Parts: sequence; structure tokens; C-alpha cells
Amino acid sequence: MSKPSFLTQRVFSISQLIVLTAVFITLFANMSFFSNVLRVYPLSLKNGVFLISLGAVSILAQIFLYSIFSYRLIVKPALIFFLLVSSLIGYFMDQYGIVIDEDMINNILKTDPGEIRDLTNLKLLLYVVFLGILPSLVVLRLKLNFDSDIKEIFNRLKLVFASIAILLVVTLPLSAQYASFLREHQSLRFYFNPSFAVYSTVSFIAPALKNPTLTFRNIGKDAEIPKADINRELVIMVVGETARADHFSLNGYARETNPLLAREKIINFPDFWSCGTSTAASLPCMFSKQTRKQYDRRTANSTDNLLDILNRASVSVLWRDNNSSSKGVADRIANEDFKTPDNNPVCDVECRDVGMLANLQNYIDKRGQGDILIVLHQMGNHGPAYYKRYPQAFRKFTPTCDTNELSNCSSQQLINSFDNAILYTDYFLTEVIKLLKQNDDRFETVMFYASDHGESLGENGIYLHGLPYFLAPDTQKHVPALMWFGKNSDAERLKNIDTKKLTPLSHDNIFSTILGLFEINSGVYDSKLDILDVASEE
Ligand SMILES: [Zn+2]
Repeated sequence: MSKPSFLTQRVFSISQLIVLTAVFITLFANMSFFSNVLRVYPLSLKNGVFLISLGAVSILAQIFLYSIFSYRLIVKPALIFFLLVSSLIGYFMDQYGIVIDEDMINNILKTDPGEIRDLTNLKLLLYVVFLGILPSLVVLRLKLNFDSDIKEIFNRLKLVFASIAILLVVTLPLSAQYASFLREHQSLRFYFNPSFAVYSTVSFIAPALKNPTLTFRNIGKDAEIPKADINRELVIMVVGETARADHFSLNGYARETNPLLAREKIINFPDFWSCGTSTAASLPCMFSKQTRKQYDRRTANSTDNLLDILNRASVSVLWRDNNSSSKGVADRIANEDFKTPDNNPVCDVECRDVGMLANLQNYIDKRGQGDILIVLHQMGNHGPAYYKRYPQAFRKFTPTCDTNELSNCSSQQLINSFDNAILYTDYFLTEVIKLLKQNDDRFETVMFYASDHGESLGENGIYLHGLPYFLAPDTQKHVPALMWFGKNSDAERLKNIDTKKLTPLSHDNIFSTILGLFEINSGVYDSKLDILDVASEE
């Protein structure tokens, strides 16, 4: 009578268990898929039939997937694995509107404990318990009937062929809708849970398996600083985190989020665009010779980047990191971790960006000669725990959202917290400028700031960042960027900047602009991409 006895007495076949799991995950862990489909195909009788058909496709895709793992000893662990993973993915898709594409797999592999802590909350736990752990316990307790190996192979073939037949039956009569789905709305398939994540994982791993040893390529070996350049350059590049262009008052945001920068002589770039929509995608691209259109993660990671080239041209290059890591960019140069209180003297609930300036004067003083490039990788506005990203003194916009469970906050609270973190970046950047001013007599000083990507703050139900570039809203790609020049800077190079700064610019411009700042002559330098190149303006 009672449920446990049903579970323990009834004997299921492997095929039945596979189908049940696929149906469960489709019904309960695919809310994002169905809500996104409904946005494109609003509910009507015709669309309702299409929606049911798509649900069937999701089930069938999973049946194909799970059939691969249907051997007797591994079938239960495999299904439990997919239930747990689907519950996690379901949570992040429902809550933040993200999808698990190749870049997201890359992000997940490069995440750190702090990032995981910021994302863990009660709601996530409920998803995992109800959609992951409880159904897994049921799978664990079910009695399975195993036929002989030959029979099981035959059973699985039967299941797969039946699935193909059903697939044809549910898609062919709706071929017109499927044609439009595949042609115009194929991004909806990104929301199939867990099938798309599995597909992304395979596409992420496959190239590495095919060509495991991509030989490292040196480029820009001809790079050198001309003998005539006797002025010493001191450039600080600040890699921002998750800041949105439209939340900088320098870009016209109604709230004053840049009160301190507004007092400095800033060259602001209001039309600046990121290369990727996540840290792991943007960082290697920002420092690579490749433009966004050319960018390939594996090639970029196995080729000299801007820092390698400058380092070889005898510029002193230092990377200080208060974020997860340099994502491989600073692997071959001096690299210091400022997320630890051992190095960072300004830590409360977490280590602050401004702590990266500690002893930096000392570092500069120790370089007796030559040029210096310092990269500071900020914690910035890293979400969803924006409220952790600023000390109490910067809690100017209130009420704030003091939890990582974004759905518990009003959108205004969320924006307030986000803007307070921008306010802290405003302070941090002016502290960087202060340090450069102290060195103005000895160096040509420059600060270059650009955020790695933007952020969604709940517009259309989307939060955080990391959507595939073509699908991502502008808020994830339109980033704040600006420059500051010290009193010894080359006035000639800035003569066209007032018109140039208003043109569309992007992370593509960083590589050659910084090479240009150091007056490097090299075949890898492209004057067309150098924001400060005067000749190409004519
Ligand atoms: Zn980032």
C-alpha cells in the first residue's frame, strides 16, 4: 500500500528507469527552457501543441544520452549523477537566466571557493534536495531487473529505435514550427537541461583530445623599445570586474557613481565593448593579439600575449590579482595574489582592491631603469553578492540587497548594492591615479581602466553574466573604460583623442594601444587598433 513498498516490490527494467528519469528532469528541472520557449511562442492552442512536442524532444534527447550509460553497474550512478547535475543547472538557469555553454564550462573549471561561497544559498539547497537528492534516493532504492548482456543491448536498441519513431511522430507534423525554431530561435536549445550542458562539455573537451599538445607559439619577437625613447613609462592597467558602462556617471548615469573620477582629467570612452561576457573568456582576449572575431581560447592560451611581449622587450611587468586569477594571462610573468591577507593589508569581510596598491611604490622604486607595466585585476562588482564588494563607508545608495539570493531583493535594492560597488571602484581608481601622480616627475604615467564584461541586473529575468555573446544583452558587453595621463605625457599623441574617444572601441584596442604607449616597434603592433595613434586619424 505505502510508497516504499511500491518502490521495493515493483521491479523496473533499465529502460523504464531511463524513461522515468528523463520525464522527471524534463518536467521539474527545465523551467527555464519552457519559460524561454513561451516568451518566443506565447501560449495558444497551436503553440501549446508545439510546447508539448518540445517537451517530448527533451525527454527523447535524454533517453539517447542515458542509454549510453545503461550498463548494469553504472546505470544507477550515472542517472544519479545526471539528476544532481540537472538540479544544479536548473537552479542557475531559473535564478540567473544563464546557460551552460563552452565558455561557462571554462568558467566553472576556473572558479574558486570564494565564488562558490558567494553563490550558495538556501534556495540552491532546496533545488538540490528536491530535484537532485530525493529522486536519487528513489533511484537508489528501486529494484532493477537485469537481463543478460545480449538481451540488455537488444532492449536498449529497442528503446532507441522507439524513441526515434516517436521523435518523428512528434516533430514531422510540426515541421513549419521546427523550421522557424531551428532557423531563428535555435538559441532556445541552450536551455535544454542537461542535454545542452553535456553537449558543451563534449565540445569543450573534444579539441583538447584531438590535439592535446598545442605547441606554444612566440610572437612579437622583434618587439623592442627604440633607443631614442629615453623617457621612462609607468603604465597601470586596471582590469575591472563586472562593471556596466551605463552605471558610470561619466557615461551619463543619473546617479553620481563617479564623484572622485569626475574631479580628475579623465579621457572617458563611452562606447567601449567587451570581448567576452565572462572573466575567463574576456581576460585572455583582452591581452591577446587576436581580436574578438579571431579569438580562439586554446590558440590564445598557447601564444605569447601582450605581457609576454613587453616582458621580453625588457619592460618590467607585474600582475597583482584580487580576483579569481589571471586566467592564464600572467602565467609567465611576475604574479602576486592579493586575495590573501598575507599580501593584502586591507582585508575585512574580504580583501579590498585598494590593498593591491600596498608597497607598489616600493616595487616602482626598485626598478632602477626602464619602463614599467603594472596590471591590477580587481574584485570590482563581482556578483551576485554585490553587498560584499564595498566597505561600509561606501554604502551610500540604500536600501541594499544584503544577500546573494537575488529574488529576495527588490530590483532597486540590487541596483543600490551594485552602484555602491561602482562607487568603491571610483575610489580605487582615484587612489591609483594618486600613486601615479607621486611618480609624475620621473615617469610618463598612464592609467588605463576597462571592465572585463558587464552584468545583467534582472532585466527580462536575466542576472549575472556569461550568456553566449550573440545572445547576451548589451548590458553584459557594454563596459566602462577610461584613461588618465600624467603631466609628462606626450601631448602630440592626445591631439585627436577628443573625437577618437567617442568612436566605437573595444577590448580589441587594448593590445596595440598599450604597445603604442611603450613606443614598441613590432610586426604585431597594429596602428589601426591603437586608440592613441595619430597618423591613422587622418
Ligand atoms: Zn569578470
